[in-house]
Amino acid sequence: MKREKTLQIYLGSVAIGGDSSVSVESMGRIYPGKVEECLSEIRAAALAGSDCFRIAVPDEEALSGLIQVKKHSPLPLIADIHFSPALALKAAQAGIDGIRLNPGTWKSRHQYHQLIECLKLGNGVLRLGANTGSLPSRFQKKGRVEALLDSIIEILEVPQKKNFNRIILSAKSTDIDETIEIYERLAEIFPYPLHVGLTEAGEGLEGIIKSTIALGTILQKGIGNNIRVSLTSPNPVLESQVAVQILRGVGLRQKGIEVISCPTCARTRGDVVSFVKEIKEAIQLITSPSPLRLAIMGCEVNGPGEAKEADLGLAFGKSTALLFVRGKIIKTIHQQDALPELIKQLQLMITNQKTKEEEENTL
Ligand code: SF4
Repeated sequence: MKREKTLQIYLGSVAIGGDSSVSVESMGRIYPGKVEECLSEIRAAALAGSDCFRIAVPDEEALSGLIQVKKHSPLPLIADIHFSPALALKAAQAGIDGIRLNPGTWKSRHQYHQLIECLKLGNGVLRLGANTGSLPSRFQKKGRVEALLDSIIEILEVPQKKNFNRIILSAKSTDIDETIEIYERLAEIFPYPLHVGLTEAGEGLEGIIKSTIALGTILQKGIGNNIRVSLTSPNPVLESQVAVQILRGVGLRQKGIEVISCPTCARTRGDVVSFVKEIKEAIQLITSPSPLRLAIMGCEVNGPGEAKEADLGLAFGKSTALLFVRGKIIKTIHQQDALPELIKQLQLMITNQKTKEEEENTL
């Protein structure tokens, strides 16, 4: 799939746009004044696949907390600030990696100039995000897509006049068709990287499916440089995992360990469902420098074929399982030994990869 080329910017150490891979943003639920809880949330999101993290900053106390959080955060941070130009300016002065403003909740012109000057002096990024839930009425006469676009054009005037380009744009709707249309328009008009999301997608399966359709379609068109899945959930882990799976699904995230497994049926020769759950839990803390695919298959129908194609595969038989490594059967094992054996082979494969990489780097 050909990707629309945009400017490339850096949010902290994460490249967004240009040739860089599509990254994942997730958003905190914890008030940043609770510094340790907030950091735990960020670490969990990072582990689940997030590359950057947005935090709402509603008041001065939240900003003080965010400044502390920033000192230990494993991910670059974006301060999400509404209604308070003074707070946005202070966050930029404190060196927060990105400042997210919403055209619908931003009124100051004078402090906007100051904010851009401050971001220009530091390495700060301006994340401009319009949302159908907070569109000012003056924009709403021509329909929601045009209104989102007009509000973005207006809020871009000052940074464009000041020749400030470290900008990421987003314009989100709750409607899938509107979201696809607005991102096509943004990609046509602006050179800036795009943060893509469907706003207020909802809870559970409903939110996941709607986000997958919208984000998957936009990404398949070659549009989008950073994504967020907005789910109603108590923490950002699920939304990070869903975002990563969307990127995997459209072939835009190869790193890490992918597990493919059969749905199971009346032929299934073992407890594939529990096995897959256990292996996914076990590999959460294992990082692989190159993409690796594991296949867990329930019987001899599609099992050997899929297991052979994967880096590591397991095809269940009657109380035993065939273990495949890079296309070859290396042993037949009892099903109760399959989990530790698979993890052992996985770790061996990763160690070999790392040794090979080190050897190549020293040549
Ligand atoms: S691989 Fe075997 S157990 Fe799994 S769904 Fe296919 S036929 Fe059923």
